[in-house]
Amino acid sequence: MNIQAYAAHEPSGKLESFQYELGALKPDEVELDIEYCGICHSDLSMLKNEWGLTRYPFVPGHEIIGKVAAMGNMVNHLKVGQYVGLGWRARSCLVCDQCLSGHHNRCLKGEDVIIGRHGGYADKVRCQALFAFPLPNNINIKNAGPLFCGGITVFNPIIHNNIKPTDHVAVVGIGGLGHIAIKFLNAWGSEVTAISTNPEKEKEAQEFGADHFINSKISDALKPYTNNFDMVLVTANVDLDWDNYIDTLRLAANCILLEQLHK
Ligand SMILES: [Zn+2]
Ligand SMILES: [Zn+2]
Repeated sequence: MNIQAYAAHEPSGKLESFQYELGALKPDEVELDIEYCGICHSDLSMLKNEWGLTRYPFVPGHEIIGKVAAMGNMVNHLKVGQYVGLGWRARSCLVCDQCLSGHHNRCLKGEDVIIGRHGGYADKVRCQALFAFPLPNNINIKNAGPLFCGGITVFNPIIHNNIKPTDHVAVVGIGGLGHIAIKFLNAWGSEVTAISTNPEKEKEAQEFGADHFINSKISDALKPYTNNFDMVLVTANVDLDWDNYIDTLRLAANCILLEQLHK
């Protein structure tokens, strides 16, 4: 199987047309015809080899939307032609303690879509069928890709911290991750306060569903919010004045630091 892709050949290199071969489809794999793929900051970190993990030629792309084109003979829960999404993970062992307790993302024998293999800036990609997630019929496939990395990154802390529709959550950083967090929290019914250093983000944040906006460039802007939030969801990959943010948490609430890194 000859795959058409775009690859960089050196750190920070330009993406250029590139072809590579794949052998037979493994019994537990699916092959996807890719239709859309998002751009995540981790694609850029990998492109620059910031984590020392990149092998060149390097094909980025791990917010993939495609149609199932072929299935290995062990796969029976998907259909050829069905739309699926594929994010950071491409495979896990399924038998370690982490996999068996539902934490496949922490499996040490796993495989990631763009580490040591080629990603979604291509016409096709393969993964263990488990990691190709069926899409609902009514989703807009053109912009669903970011749900599979940026989206799950902010969805996860909302679930893990048992955030309720009656909770008040602050979202720090209104970029790729932050705007999805606001949309999820708004849909869930929570009260949402967007926090940004850029006052021009206020209107945008309100359109995404934020109830309030704080310009954190203004000194003491957080003071009126002491003992106020049930969670502070930090999506900005910068050092903050943490004491001020921790003071905004209600007693016994959780403070989540989310860097735009996959850990
Ligand atoms: Zn990502
Ligand atoms: Zn495992």
